[in-house]
Amino acid sequence: MKRRVLIVGGVAGGATCAARLRRLDEQAEIVVFERGPYVSFANCGLPYYVGNVIQDEAKLLLASPQLFRERFNIDVRINADVVAIDRAKHTIRVKDVATGCESTEAYDELVLSPGALPIRPNWPGVDLPGIFTLRTVPDSRAIRAWLDDRKPSTAVVVGGGFIGLEMAENLAHRGLAVTIVELAKQVMPPLDPEMAEYARQRLEAKGVTLALGDAVTSFEQTESGLRVHTQSGASFDAGIVVLAIGVRPETRLAVDAGLKLGARGCIAVSNQMQTSDEHIWAMGDAVELSNFVTGELGMVALAGPANRQGRIVADVLCGRDSKYRGAQGTAVCGFFGFTVALTGATEKSLLRAGVKDVAAVYLHPGHHVGYYPGAQPIHLKLLFRRSDGRVLGAQAAGEQGVERRIDVIATTIQMNGTVFDLEDAELCYAPQYGSAKDPVNFAGMIAANVVRGDAELAAWSEVETSDAFLLDVREPQEFAAGAIPGAINISLGQLRARMNELPVAREIWVNCGVGQRAYYACRILAQNGLNARNLSGGYSTYRVLYPER
Ligand code: FAD
Repeated sequence: MKRRVLIVGGVAGGATCAARLRRLDEQAEIVVFERGPYVSFANCGLPYYVGNVIQDEAKLLLASPQLFRERFNIDVRINADVVAIDRAKHTIRVKDVATGCESTEAYDELVLSPGALPIRPNWPGVDLPGIFTLRTVPDSRAIRAWLDDRKPSTAVVVGGGFIGLEMAENLAHRGLAVTIVELAKQVMPPLDPEMAEYARQRLEAKGVTLALGDAVTSFEQTESGLRVHTQSGASFDAGIVVLAIGVRPETRLAVDAGLKLGARGCIAVSNQMQTSDEHIWAMGDAVELSNFVTGELGMVALAGPANRQGRIVADVLCGRDSKYRGAQGTAVCGFFGFTVALTGATEKSLLRAGVKDVAAVYLHPGHHVGYYPGAQPIHLKLLFRRSDGRVLGAQAAGEQGVERRIDVIATTIQMNGTVFDLEDAELCYAPQYGSAKDPVNFAGMIAANVVRGDAELAAWSEVETSDAFLLDVREPQEFAAGAIPGAINISLGQLRARMNELPVAREIWVNCGVGQRAYYACRILAQNGLNARNLSGGYSTYRVLYPER
């Protein structure tokens, strides 16, 4: 007998699942219900449509119901809101958004990919005209229309995460002066604070005003537009406001149907994306996922995992043994010619999860060899298990080549790889693309030196309180331009000759510009019986760790 598979939600997870299912099962009857007017649209492209970088709205629409019908024999119903599930009868109730008419549809298997909803807190004035969230094509159309009609000169973006920064860039691209208000003391809250510092610097250099560690309290209508009030007592004029303060899982259907929920109210699923009902499957932003590195349970609102899970559900429905391995949170964000990316655990998430035995190295290599014009630094932080070198996470920031390095490390994490694997990785190289020792190899080598005991690390967190002897091995002119308070300067070239100036009984914490000369110095000192440790990443790292100094 032909089985009937109903899918709720027709974008990232839902559309992927439907298409894969058809490829594996030519007989199944597959029906996709999508509440909105479009299926399979590019939600990730919406900020760029607002910014007019993508000019043609049609480019956002990756597939139509007609294409699904003709190519895949899949019945896609748009403007079809699934309002209830009757688990006992194996039916759903569907409301036609245009007419309000309801109908009942029977299923053998039900797949939920309902996504998430932008958070819109109940702040006074939040419903005033000119305050937007961004999730759908109509949302982006409304923002564009406001910009075209009102021609505002100022914008406030509430939230400095991925979508907030992309919106800031795109609004600035349209000529608006942008302020970002962010509750955390840093932009890009998923990053460790010192890595987010690079993003802060770029945003401010491009004229974005940042109100960090501050919270919006209310909105007020003024003669010229809106005024945004914050907890600190500040206020900002805005011709338009975009709320980008995160999403919450769209779980109304699951809750009403009594499905088991997990962390942050997400739908609890097995590693084969099965819910607490054996005939109901769920995926994407709405489900609870375990972190691949820390095992922490939470929500991961990213397109890659949703797509992957869509394939897994289709596989499993066709008797295959596919399993979701856990989310790494591999993500990238670009703004004003700058890129930040991360994968796996951050130092703060490891701390939160109580993971011990962690070490971090920082490095700042060029994205390609220095002798080829245009080399740009990549600021890279690699986290690994000190005892055996297992790679736990990485974050990077820079203008070029950032995402490529994070992707390599993401794959290594996925394979349970170690810093020795990064050290040995054979990667693309020609002068305009990289270096024979790629930044990823460098990160692996530096970390491997730590694991092997060839290089000891000093704790950046204690640099200003420790009684260690601080040795700066840069050239005098570099030292004169700025140094860690209390550090003594003996350049690497003079070190062997001036060894007698160093204390024998104290730890010596060594820094240079980015960490390389300090490593050489540590090797010299260690082989002369001195207790030397490297301040990883050197003065470049100090500057982002202690930006206010
Ligand atoms: P969605 O793709 O959101 O699809 C859910 C669909 O279900 C919605 O269309 C909704 O209308 C429909 N639906 C919900 N309930 C019902 C119901 N009861 N009946 C019928 N239909 C229903 N991720 C990245 O990895 N990289 C990026 O660069 C990136 N940029 C983004 C930019 C923006 C502006 C946004 C909004 C998201 C971005 N994301 C990005 C996140 C990514 O789009 C989501 O993680 C992904 O789309 C989640 O897939 P999903 O299938 O769970 O939900």
